Formats: sequence, C-alpha cells, structure tokens
Amino acid sequence: MTQDFNELRTKALEALSLKHKNDVNEANLGSDVKKLLEELSVHQIELEYQNEELIRAQDAIRKQSNEFADLFDNAPVGYLIIDANHNIVKSNRTFGEMLHMQPYELIGNPIEKYISPLFQDNFYHFMKLLTQNGMGAQVNVKIRSNFRGDTFVRIDGKILNDDTNYIRLSIVDITEQKQLEDLLRKETEKVLKSEVRFRQIVEQSTDTFVYLNVHPISLDYLSPTIERLTGYTVDECLNMSANEWYGILLPQYRDGATNLFERLLKAELSQEKYIYSTFEIRCKNGEIKWVHGSFSLNKNFEEVPYQIIGTFHDITSNIDYQTQLKLAKEKAEENDSLKSAYLANMSHEIRTPLNAIIGFANILSEGFKESGDEENLNFVSIIERNGERLLELINDLICISKIESNQMTLSFSEFNLNQLMVDINDMFRLDAIEKGLALKCINDNTPIIITSDKDKLTSCCCNLIKNALKYTNEGYVEYCASVCDDKLNFYVKDSGIGVQDNKKESIFNRFAQVNSTSSKDGIGLGLSIVKGLIDLLNGTITIESEFGKGSTFSFSIPLKQNGTNI
Ligand code: ADP
Repeated sequence: MTQDFNELRTKALEALSLKHKNDVNEANLGSDVKKLLEELSVHQIELEYQNEELIRAQDAIRKQSNEFADLFDNAPVGYLIIDANHNIVKSNRTFGEMLHMQPYELIGNPIEKYISPLFQDNFYHFMKLLTQNGMGAQVNVKIRSNFRGDTFVRIDGKILNDDTNYIRLSIVDITEQKQLEDLLRKETEKVLKSEVRFRQIVEQSTDTFVYLNVHPISLDYLSPTIERLTGYTVDECLNMSANEWYGILLPQYRDGATNLFERLLKAELSQEKYIYSTFEIRCKNGEIKWVHGSFSLNKNFEEVPYQIIGTFHDITSNIDYQTQLKLAKEKAEENDSLKSAYLANMSHEIRTPLNAIIGFANILSEGFKESGDEENLNFVSIIERNGERLLELINDLICISKIESNQMTLSFSEFNLNQLMVDINDMFRLDAIEKGLALKCINDNTPIIITSDKDKLTSCCCNLIKNALKYTNEGYVEYCASVCDDKLNFYVKDSGIGVQDNKKESIFNRFAQVNSTSSKDGIGLGLSIVKGLIDLLNGTITIESEFGKGSTFSFSIPLKQNGTNI
C-alpha cells in the first residue's frame, strides 16, 4: 500500500492534468484558490484509488478466509474451540461427524456433555492439567452423543495465546487403533497362556523334547525332563560338546545320529513327516536305557528346514516287560508240552490195564451168555460199555496230548480213498439205523488212489461223522470225499441241531461243548483232535451251520501232484 502512495499521487496528478484540459472555467480563478482546488482534486482522486485498492485487498482476505474455513471444516482431525467454562465456541465438521451432529448444534454446550460417563474423571484431570501448565495436554477418552454410540478419541488441548483464553482441542478417532491394541493384547495373552500350558505339558510329560538348529548345529531348546531320562541336568547338557552328546548313545547307534538331518530330508521327499528310531543310551549313573525317538523338521515360511524336533520316550520298562512276557510264554509252552507229554505217557499206561479189563469182561460176558446167567451178563455188559467209553476217552486224551506236545508223527501210505469211505459207511451203518437216520455215502466203488496218512484221515472223517450222527435226531447224515486240484476234499452234512453263529469260532477249541444238550456223550475233544490232525496235514477245516437246521463240516488237505500229502 505504501508504494503505492507515490505511485497514486503521480497517477492522480496525471488524471488532474487531463481534467484541466477539458475544464474551460478554471482560467478565471485566482492562483491560490486554483492551487488549493488542485490539491483537493489530487487528494480526492488519491482517495478513490485507495478505496479501490482496499476493496481488492478485502476480496483477497475473504477468499483466503474461506479457504481456511474449508480446511478447518474438512480437516481429518476434529477441531473445537471452547471457552474458559468449557462451552463450545466453535466446532469443525469433522468433530460434528464424530457425534453424527451438525457443528452449529454443538455451539454453546459444555464439552463434558459429549464425554462418556466412564471417562469424565480422566477428562476433568486433563482439563485441570491443561489450565494449570498452560503448555498443552493429551487424554484418551470415549465421546458419545444421542445419535452415535461411543467413539474412542485422543484429545490434544492447547490454550490459545490471545486475549480470549480460549482452548483449542484437536480430536483424533482412535477406535481402530484401540481395537487393534485390544486384539494385540488378547493375542499376546493367548500366546502367553499357551506358552505356559506348553511349558507345563512339556515339564510334566514323561517324554523329553529337543529343538536343534541345523545351520549351524546348536541346541535351541531342551525340556527339563532330560534329567529324568539321562540323569544330566539341562545346564549340564547345554555345556556338553557334540562328542559328549554322541557319547550318551551306545556306539552301535551313533552312525544313525550323525546323518539324522539327511535322513529327515530324504523322508520329507517321500512325504513322510516323521522318522522313528529305537536305541540305547548310557545314563549319567551308568544305567543303560532303551529310548524310542521320533524326529521331524521345522520349516520357515520359505519351506526351508531349519530345525530338528526330537521327542524321546523311555521304553526300558516296556522292553523288560516284553522280555519277561516272552520268557513266561516260552515257559508256559514248555510246561504245556511237558504236561501233554506226561499225559500221553500216563494215558498209555492206563490204557494197558484197561484193555485187560475190557478183554476179560468180554470173556466173562461170553461165559454168562452161554450159561444164560442174565443178571451177571447185565453187570458185565455195564463194565464192557463203560470200559469202552473210558478207553475212547483215554485214546482221545493220548491223541490230543501227542498233537500238542508235537509227538504226533505222520505215516504215509498209498490207499484207495473210495474204499476208505465205503468202509467208514460200514462202521456207522448200524448206529444210523439204530437212530432211524439215513446215512448217505456219496462215494462209489471207482478206485481213487492217494498217498496220505490213512489212520489220521480215517480218524478225522470218523470223528466228524460220529458227531453228525450224535447231534442229529431225525433226517440224514451225508458225507463225501473227493480229489480236485491236488486237494483232498471231504464234507459231512447233517440235518441235526446245528450250531449258533457265535459258537462257531470256539467250536474247535479243547473241551468246547457249545450246545447245552450236547454234552451227554463226550468231553469236547473230538473236534480239537480233528483240527489238530488237519493242521498237521497242512489242511483247513470249516463249519457252515444254521442253528436248528443242520451243519456241514468240511476239510481240505493239499496233496502232491502224484497224490501224496504235501
Ligand atoms: P463232544 O465230545 O462234545 O462231541 P466235540 O469236540 O466233538 O466234542 O464237539 C464239540 C461240540 O461241538 C459238541 O459238544 C457239540 O456241541 C458241537 N458239535 C459238534 N459236531 C456237531 C454237529 N454235527 N452238529 C451240532 N453240533 C455239533
């Protein structure tokens, strides 16, 4: 504006001389008046120019002020001016938006009206501090209005350095930051909790855990349970050299430990996550322990393995237990076979006098028959019948004892299979007729020559047919033996009482009597003898049965191509 004073005067003088040219009446005025008039005219023109400048300056200021107002209103931070009584004097739009209100609606209200009740105390102290130190202060509070719930904000306050003593508050929405902080705190708590849990599990576990960095090889973590396993404390272990570590392993296992990382990498390639190994260690007190270890690799985000995790479990007691179990089993087997051998010998000893008793009872019976002494004949036939049952029983006991003590030997001979079946038919025909049953032998007279243990085979077939007759009250018993695909196949089918499904599996066990009605005549050894003999001949035996309708027992024995047993 001052430049301009000289400039304006020059401009005014120019404007005046232009005016004189056009003014004809001025020639008549005195020189003083003329001068004065001139001076006044210049001054007036000067004022006009000044006025124009002023209007231009006012416009510029208004424009600038509008720009500032726009910036103030739309700043990303809320701004408030409050007076000494904390009443709002001015608010920008951003703060209004934080409360879902128009700025003008806030004017005249105390700022405390918009502070959430829980934070009133904090805000009070903040204001106190601010007015006391005059330097500025900061507080985090929640603000709220009737139109919007709580918003977490950070408020910075400053007393304005003018004569109003107004306070300027700038308010930043920190809800998101607080949510993140909250999340972080919760996550940290979770991590801490799981770390505590992990430690408790690890420290109370019966296993030992080792984390081993691979580049370069170093111990990252060792669970305290190492002391229970090896007798060495964690500190002792941490101070051990690699050689001392290997020294804990018994020598025969050390190679496996040196290339563990390579083995793990190889296992990874074949999609295996873990490798397992069982080895022995020498503890601090010299005790040898069996340890089962499982190993896996830890990889970083680029899938590069950087750590080996090893878990070790003391299995010494399992190994001891297994050894004891094995010894006990061997002992039991030995005892069992001793018992069977004893039984086989004893039974043999009993059989000899029994044969004499039966033999002499037969002679007596012939004598009583001839003399017609019915009463004594009756007594003697009781001795004969029971003697024969006893003999049968003893024969069964001898047979099963021999099988179980591996004393049963096989004796092969050539014979006609069809003829054997016909002979068996002769043996049981009378029994069948007595019970009113049809006994059907499917074999004919065509010779089929095979080589096998004829006695054992006969014993198997007879036992099965005898059972079929015993457990059939009406109907039939049918049997057949044939040779097919180098196998001797035999079946006996009856229309008897049948066997329940849940009993089929145990039926071949020693002394198994699966039907309550069936124990009248036998002690449950027949089928176990048959099974033992079939096993000895490398064959298999099966049962098919429908309870109440009948059963079919079948066995199959492999024969060599020329018909002999394999
Ligand atoms: P047992 O001397 O009791 O006949 P086995 O070992 O020969 O002994 O048979 C065991 C049990 O199997 C018998 O007690 C009987 O319950 C059942 N069993 C055997 N054969 C038959 C069959 N053909 N029909 C029904 N049940 C049978």
